[in-house]
Amino acid sequence: MKPIDFKNLSLEELNSYFEGLGESKFRAQQLIEWMFKKRVSSFDEMSNFSKTLREQLKKDGYLSGLKLVTTQSSQDETRKFLFELEDGETVETVLMPHRSSEGGSRMTLCVSTQVGCRMGCKFCLTASQGLVRHLKCSEILNQISESQALVESGILKETPFEDLEKITNLVMMGMGEPLDNFDNVLRALGYITWDRAFEISAKRVTVSTSGLVTKIEELGQKSNVNLAISLNASTNPTRSEIMPINKPYPIEKLIEVTKKFYTENKRRKIMFEYVLLKDVNDTDQDAHQLAKQLRGTAFKVNLIPFNEHPKLPYKQPSQDRIEKFQDILKKNKVFSFVRWSKGRDISAACGQLRSP
Ligand code: SAH
Ligand code: SF4
Repeated sequence: MKPIDFKNLSLEELNSYFEGLGESKFRAQQLIEWMFKKRVSSFDEMSNFSKTLREQLKKDGYLSGLKLVTTQSSQDETRKFLFELEDGETVETVLMPHRSSEGGSRMTLCVSTQVGCRMGCKFCLTASQGLVRHLKCSEILNQISESQALVESGILKETPFEDLEKITNLVMMGMGEPLDNFDNVLRALGYITWDRAFEISAKRVTVSTSGLVTKIEELGQKSNVNLAISLNASTNPTRSEIMPINKPYPIEKLIEVTKKFYTENKRRKIMFEYVLLKDVNDTDQDAHQLAKQLRGTAFKVNLIPFNEHPKLPYKQPSQDRIEKFQDILKKNKVFSFVRWSKGRDISAACGQLRSP
């Protein structure tokens, strides 16, 4: 029998595993705490398990991990990690420490959910890889455990962020389309937000999607995390050209399902992401049209100036153009802010993640 990757099992699966051994059900929760809260690296450290039980666990399975291949540091102290998976594939994870002008601090981790992506967005580097494979739940979670361990090992020492100890926020905005790997992502989200595991409040967790409408609906029913929608165009012809997913799920459908997601749970934050591509989606007319699409909603817009890359055919609009675009939104009562991606100097910025 194949050894069990215990970090990949749901609570129900762990429960039945322990039941099968004639052990009490609370063993499952204890194992979860050892794996995800205390992050031990061997069964022998699980001191409330008998020697016999520990030997049984060793016989049946293992505690998976990731191999750190490289770390890159940006001038803004963003760190990009390249991790190797069990089968030799690699994914990138980005750690972004941050302090606001009021002195508050947070540490956001941007995790990958797939090796590559099959959505084919024309402005995104990950798309050029195609979909290699989905990440398992354990591989999504291990990005958090390994990154947290790296923080604890002192990678932010002698930086303005050396006092930050814990990853406080999580975004699924790395490589891949989270909702195309729905079951594994949902299982991972359960552990991420659970107080016996990673204990990151759902209020501080955001799933970003290119707009798989039916899956957005399902996510709304099964989880209470925040949502970011990569809109990236104001009209269907332009959106279909740069994001093929727009053909089955056009803008109207996307906005409709987002409104529903919002009304069903007002505590959730919803953001529309709009990558500004010079001469493609950045005209005055686009700004007016975008405002029209969002008028009367409470949704905010994140304007992301395109991060250029030699392999991508687009350009970043000028500063003036970006300001004018934002100004039109403002005059039309749509709130937006411009998000200059972090870690641009190390290709850790949005859409620049890919395996080597
Ligand atoms: N697949 C998901 C999440 C990962 S992409 C999604 O598409 O939402 C994360 C964000 O990066 C998306 O909003 C995407 O539109 C943006 N992005 C992709 N390529 C980019 C680039 N070259 N410059 C700026 N943003 C980019
Ligand atoms: Fe995939 Fe998101 Fe990139 Fe589109 S923008 S190809 S959905 S990772």
